Amino acid sequence: MSQSTDTLVPPSSVPDAEGGPRRYFVTSFGCQMNVYDGERMGEMLSAQGMQAADQREDADLVILNTCHIREKAVARVYSDIGRLKREDGSKPMIAVAGCVAQAEGEEIARRAPTVDIVVGPQAYHRLPQLIEQARSTRKTAVDTDMPAVTKFGALPGRARQPRPSAFLTVQEGCDKFCTYCVVPYTRGAEISRPFADLVEEAKALVDGGVKEITLLGQNVNAWTGDDASGRSQGLEGLIEVLAAMPGLERIRYTTSHPNDMTDGLIAAHRDIDKLMPYLHLPVQSGSDRILKAMNRSHNAASYLAIIDKVRAARPDIALSGDFIVGFPGETEADFQATLDIVRAANYAQAYSFKYSSRPGTPAADMEDQISPEIMDERLQRLQSLLGEQQQAFNQTTVGQRTRVLLEREGRKPGQLVGKSPWLQSVHVVAPGAGIGDLIDVELVSAGPNSLEGQALALVTDLEVIG
Ligand code: SAM
Ligand code: SF4
Repeated sequence: MSQSTDTLVPPSSVPDAEGGPRRYFVTSFGCQMNVYDGERMGEMLSAQGMQAADQREDADLVILNTCHIREKAVARVYSDIGRLKREDGSKPMIAVAGCVAQAEGEEIARRAPTVDIVVGPQAYHRLPQLIEQARSTRKTAVDTDMPAVTKFGALPGRARQPRPSAFLTVQEGCDKFCTYCVVPYTRGAEISRPFADLVEEAKALVDGGVKEITLLGQNVNAWTGDDASGRSQGLEGLIEVLAAMPGLERIRYTTSHPNDMTDGLIAAHRDIDKLMPYLHLPVQSGSDRILKAMNRSHNAASYLAIIDKVRAARPDIALSGDFIVGFPGETEADFQATLDIVRAANYAQAYSFKYSSRPGTPAADMEDQISPEIMDERLQRLQSLLGEQQQAFNQTTVGQRTRVLLEREGRKPGQLVGKSPWLQSVHVVAPGAGIGDLIDVELVSAGPNSLEGQALALVTDLEVIG
C-alpha cells in the first residue's frame, strides 16, 4: 500500500490550484518497457482530465520514469530532479516512477526532498491517488507495492496512438537472476499477461491507427498463455493470432532470452510473413566461464546453434544482441572469446555496455572487479567490430527492393523516415505518402546508422499501386 514519508515537501512544490496539477510531462529513461509504461501513465492521466504538456517547463506534474540497470542511469535521475527547480524558486510536482523508485523507495525522499511521489513500476495505476495524497499531506507519497492484482486491469483502454508503431507489454519481470542484473528485484517475478487481454489491447491499438506492434518483455519469449479454446500457447501462438488481425501489418518482439528460444518461435519466423526478420537475442559474453559466473544458463556453442536454426528458418534475419564487457574476473582471453562469438554470429546491430556493479546483486560482491580503464578499452574494441558488422549488414541490403513503414518527418524538406523490415532507419522522399503509410522502396545507399531509399510505390490495403 502507499505511505507517506516524514519528509515534508517544500510548500512551493505542490500546486495549490483547485483540483491539483493540470498538465503533465513524462520523461522515460532506459528500456522500451519504460517507454510503454510512460505512455500508459500519460494515457491514464489524460483519461482523468489532465493534459499532456508539450514541454517539461509547461508542466505542473513532471514524472521521471527511471531506469536502475546501470549506475549512470541512476545518477542521471538525481541530476534531473535538481534541474526541475525554476528560476523563480518554484517547481512542479515531481513523481519518480520506474525501477529507481522501486529499488530506492523512501531513500529518494531523503536524498531529494523536493520529490512529491515515489511510485514503483507495478503500482503506477495508483498515480491519481498518490497525487491527491501528496497534495493533501504535503509529504512524499511512496508506493512500491507489487500488488497481486496487476496494474494492467486497472488502467484505462488504449488511446489513439500518435505513431503507426506501438509497444505492447506482454510479459514482465524475470526469474532468471543473472548475477549482474537488478531486473528480478525491481520488476519482480515473471508474469505473462492473459492472451485475451493482449488481443484486445492489440485490437485497440490497430483501431487507433497502429500498423506495427512490438511485443515487449524482459524475457518476452518466456510468455505463455491460454488461447480462446483453452490451449496453452507460447509466444508464437500469440503472434499467429495477431498476424490474422486485419490492419496490423507488422509484428516484432523484444527482448528474448536464448533459453526460451523454442523451435516453435523459430518456425514462426519462417511461416508468418507479418513477423519481421529481426531478432534481438542477447548473449552478453562469448566466454563459457564468464557466462557461467553470470548464471546465463547458455554457453557460446548453444547460442550459436540457436542462431544457425534461426538462419535456416529465415536466412535474411537481422540479428541483434547485448554484450557486457568487464564482468568481474573477465580476462583478455575471455574478452577474445566475446570477439570470437561476435565474428561467428555476425550482427546487424547490437548494444554493448561496460559492466556496472549493482548493489544487492551477487556479482557486486565478486572478487576481481575490472578497472574502468580496461573496461573502456575493451568496449572500444568490441564496438568497433560491431560497428563494422552493422555497416556491412546495411551495405548488403543496398540494391534491394523492400517495404518501409513511414514513422516521422525527416530533417530535409519533403523527407520522411521509416523502418525497413530489418529495423533499419530509411530516409525517403515520397510525394503523396505520409506518416503511417507503407511504401515500397529501393535501398540506394547505406551509412552506419541509416539508409537512403528511393520510393517505388505507395501500398494501400496491401495492394501496390504504381
Ligand atoms: N532479459 C534480457 C536478457 O537476458 O538478455 C535483457 C534485459 S536487460 C534489462 C537489458 C540489458 O542490460 C542486458 O542484456 C545487459 O546487457 C544489460 N545489463 C543488465 N545489467 C547490467 C549491468 N549490471 N551492467 C551492465 N549492463 C547490464
Ligand atoms: Fe536481467 Fe535478462 Fe538476466 Fe533477467 S534474463 S536477470 S532481465 S539480464
